[in-house]
Order: sequence, then structure tokens, then C-alpha cells
Amino acid sequence: MYLKPLFKTILNSKHNIQWVYYTSAKKFLYLAPTNKIFKKEFLTNIYKKEFWTEAIPSNNPGIELILTKLYDDAAGKGYLTTLSLPIMNNEKFMGVLSIDIGLKTLNSMMEKDDLVGSIYLVNQDNEILASNKEFEINSVLKRGNSTFELSIFDDTIKLVYIENIEEKIITILKTSIFQILLLIFILFIIYMLCYLLILNKKVENLANKDSLTSLLNRRAMRIESKKLLSIANRYNHFTSLLLLDIDFFKDVNDTYGHHIGDLTIKEIAKILSRNSRESDLISRYGGEEFLIMLSNSNKESAYTLAERIRKEISLISIENTDLKITVSIGCTEYKKKESLDSFIKRADLLLYKAKDQGRNQTVKA
Ligand code: GH3
Ligand code: MG
Ligand code: MG
Repeated sequence: MYLKPLFKTILNSKHNIQWVYYTSAKKFLYLAPTNKIFKKEFLTNIYKKEFWTEAIPSNNPGIELILTKLYDDAAGKGYLTTLSLPIMNNEKFMGVLSIDIGLKTLNSMMEKDDLVGSIYLVNQDNEILASNKEFEINSVLKRGNSTFELSIFDDTIKLVYIENIEEKIITILKTSIFQILLLIFILFIIYMLCYLLILNKKVENLANKDSLTSLLNRRAMRIESKKLLSIANRYNHFTSLLLLDIDFFKDVNDTYGHHIGDLTIKEIAKILSRNSRESDLISRYGGEEFLIMLSNSNKESAYTLAERIRKEISLISIENTDLKITVSIGCTEYKKKESLDSFIKRADLLLYKAKDQGRNQTVKA
């Protein structure tokens, strides 16, 4: 068979060629790469196919190279297009030499379901020869921005893929919707955790702080001062207490009303905060009573501070009133191993003494 070496050469070329065969007018077909020759029985339908009917001289008087439309190969080689050349011998038609070009790229795209554009097979003049989309005979392909080209037969034929950007975005969104939802879910969980942490902090603050003054409330003061005393016991630190009570506060309320009374409490709280160190504990221990625990302070330095506070308070001026606010203070130093209650009790007795001695003074012991 004289065509055999030619077929081998074509099949071994770098192009994506699946079958090479010669269909003879004498009713036989030679197929490469299997090297089989098929005779009559098999061939009844072959002579009705496009690669033959379009190529034979009666339909192709110019004896030109014919390219069939794209079709799915019955033998399972995927999408193919056939290039057919009528073979003449001294003006006598002998048969058709056909080459099936497999469009592997196209196939894999179709299988992957991400073919979101159009595929065209065009000749050198950009005339569309085949496509997976509708096209007019002799129409010329206009290329857009997202065009990919694959050369077949040294540029005589090109496979052109024109991507549809909008469809591609939709496809990407569709395929990644699960990841997007997962990300939203994770972000939501992170947001909720942060929100819960902030909420927890707020609740903690509400539970520990007095709403009028933002000082520690009685409950938190007892917890924190017990911790401070245990450290003082272990390391022999001096610790002192100031118990402060507003003088004749009932009269303030009675004369100016509760609003002015509250304002006074707030002003005193500000003075206490201003005059204390980070390590001190300041609390609104009762209605108009403040308990201050001073770490690393002996009774003398505590007394100095108490007097500074007392004098500063006596200078407070409350808007729209001619109020003179004074406080009485009990001041004492911690005795090792003493309970918190006993410590406070001693400060309370000294406060009582200060009241008894005429108020607006600090009594220490
Ligand atoms: P003393 O000098 O003996 O301490 O006299 P006092 O009037 O301050 O003492 P008393 O305990 O008789 O009165 C305390 C008053 O403090 C009673 C109450 O109406 C007032 N008070 C307690 N808590 C608050 C508060 O949060 N706001 C206001 N406006 N008044 C309060
Ligand atoms: Mg009181
Ligand atoms: Mg009072």
C-alpha cells in the first residue's frame, strides 16, 4: 500500500490528529494507525458521510481540501473535524484521503463544564469553518479581548476560543458558592465571638462597677480587697483603709433635691480617682460612703492622702448652689492576718469618731 508511509508521517506529527484514512472509490477503506483495510459490509454508511460527499468531484469540482463541521466521534476520540482531500490520478477520481483532527482542548473544556465561550475553527482568512455555536457560511470571525488561539497545520487552520467574561464570572461564582458561603459563615462566627467577648466585658463591668460613679461597687470591692490583703499578708506590705462619709448629706438632698445629691457623689468620685494610684482600690461602698484601700501605704501616708482629699472636697462647687460639701474620714492601717471585716470595722469606728468630734476631719489610729 503506497499511502502507508505518508499516513505514518502525518500521524506522528505534533498536531492533534486522531485518524488518517483513505476511502477509495473502489469501495474499500484503509485506516491508520490500525493499518486495517475495510471492505464492503462496513462501508455502506461511510459513503454518505460529509467527509466523502463534500469531497468527491461532483460536489467539489475544484478538487479542494474540504473541512467538515465539528462532530463527536463515534469511535470515542472526542470532538473531531475532518480534513478531506480528493485523490486524482490522471483526471480520474481515486478516492478521498481524510485526516481527523481531534480537538482535545475543546473536549477537556466541555467535559469540565467550564466552557463559557464559543469555539471556532477558522482558516487563514479568518473565515469560520466550524463552531460549537451557530454561524453563517463565509462569515469572518471578529476577535474580542478574551481570545485564545491554537494553531493547527502551521497556521492554515486555527482553533479560536472566545471567552464570555460575564458567563465566566457567573460560572466561577456558581462553582465557588460553597467556599463563599463557608467564608461568610466563618466571618460571622468570628464577628459573633468578638461581639460575645465585648458583651462579656460589658456584663463584667456592669457587675463590678457602680453605675453612677464607675467606681468599684461593694461586691467587687470585697473580692478585690481580699486579694490585695492576701498579697499584703504574704509579702508584709503595708496596707491602709480610708472610709469616707459625706457630712449631713441628707440635708443636701432635702434642700436641693436628689439630682444635686447625685452630682455631689459624682464630683467626690472624680476627686478620689484623681488622687489615687493604679494599685489602689476605690469603691462606692454604700449610698454616700466610699471605701479606699491603699496598697503599700502605712497609716501616715494614708492620713496625708485623706487630708488632701478632704480639703479638695471642701472646695467643690456645685452648679446653681452655694453648697459647702465636707466629708469625715476614718483612716487605719492593716494588722497582719486580720480579716477584711475587722479591718473595715476599725475604720468605721474611726469615722464614727470623726463625726462625733464635729465632722469635716480625718481620724487615724
Ligand atoms: P452624717 O453627717 O451623719 O453622715 O449625716 P448624713 O445626712 O449624711 O447621714 P444619713 O445616713 O442620715 O444620710 C445619708 C443620706 O444619703 C440618705 C440618703 O438619702 C442619701 N443617699 C444615699 N445614697 C444616695 C444617692 O445615691 N443619691 C442621693 N442623692 N442621695 C443618696
Ligand atoms: Mg452615711
Ligand atoms: Mg453622711
